[in-house]
Amino acid sequence: MNLIDNSTLTHSHSEIEDDGEVFACPNCGSGGTVLFHEVHNVPTNSCILFETRAEAINCSRGAIALRFCEECGFIYNASFRQDLTEYSGRYEETQGFSPTFSRFHRNLAAEMVERHDLKEREVMEIGCGKGEFLVLLSQLGENRGIGVDPSALPERLEGVEGAERVTLIPEYFEPRHCDEQPDFLCCKMTLEHIPETANFIETIRAGLDPDKKTVVFFQVPEADRIIRHCAFEDIYHEHCSYFTSASLQYLFEQSGFEVTRTAVEYDDQYLTIEAVPASEPLLPNPRDGNSDLAELVASFPARLEEHKLHWRHVVEQAKAKGQTVVLWGSGSKAVSFLTSLGIAGMVDFVTDINPNRHNHFMPGTGHLIVSPDQLAEIEPGLVIVMNRIYEDEITASLEQIGVECVVECL
Ligand SMILES: [Zn+2]
Repeated sequence: MNLIDNSTLTHSHSEIEDDGEVFACPNCGSGGTVLFHEVHNVPTNSCILFETRAEAINCSRGAIALRFCEECGFIYNASFRQDLTEYSGRYEETQGFSPTFSRFHRNLAAEMVERHDLKEREVMEIGCGKGEFLVLLSQLGENRGIGVDPSALPERLEGVEGAERVTLIPEYFEPRHCDEQPDFLCCKMTLEHIPETANFIETIRAGLDPDKKTVVFFQVPEADRIIRHCAFEDIYHEHCSYFTSASLQYLFEQSGFEVTRTAVEYDDQYLTIEAVPASEPLLPNPRDGNSDLAELVASFPARLEEHKLHWRHVVEQAKAKGQTVVLWGSGSKAVSFLTSLGIAGMVDFVTDINPNRHNHFMPGTGHLIVSPDQLAEIEPGLVIVMNRIYEDEITASLEQIGVECVVECL
């Protein structure tokens, strides 16, 4: 994932108030935004790996104040603090160790190669993480890739098939990176980390020549599901921007793109959009397509309390039986689970299949991240899966390790 250095941007679309809260919609500029969800004292970086428990507990903290734009349907964290986020080599976001995710990622790359005829083309990725997707595009279509991401670690690609055509630039994105006019420009799981959404998309659009018809592909978490199902685990500080297909389409259209496709994928968790630079400006209506969302937002606080009570009860019941409780998945969802429910002290360990995370500590609560193999000795009574899409994969792993326990999925 990653973002642009916002210090280079102006605040043409949002008014920043004295206490740092942004009240005007960063997506459409409207002043009609309402506060509907607040969490205080949360870690500002939920993907950073900490070497010691003390460092993890003393991590930097911030607040979440979600506002809903009644005009365009955009949702954002008005208390987001860019200066408290870190996207360095310590940022460990890869999901590549999961066979379920790897399959999805490979299929997505194959779909892009097929639909956009990406064969021996120039492809670019903003927020490329460790470069896995560019390597797939290189392997599947002999494409040449450039990836821009301040947390890129070019050395991790050494010796990987197809990586010889991929260049990773460990920098924040700037329009000059587009000077070569790529055939395909993608940006996955990054826009949600950018507060000035309109500025960002306009910056990209400004770098593209409309005659080249560069295909632009973005993927973000889908916010209708989060609000509808009160998926509090998907709300965390560094996700400052939340889109539904209507607000995402509006953003692209008003920034000078013609949208060719939107879709919801990966068990309704991801929203994708495809667009090309429009030759003529469009005048989209921000109110198109977001009428149900206002109602869901209005009922969110009460529904969320009920949902949180349910999860507190699940954990308390297990502890009452003397069971060891383990969370499976140590990423942002687990950070949110541990800091939102007030039951962190009842969770004993966190496990993850990414070996880079083992023996590190969870931001905020300092839980130790153990390897799944260690569960044989830990003998959990309850494993809570942080992402339902991995249920089958995790159940199979538990069986293989020889652990018999209750498995609950968020
Ligand atoms: Zn708006």
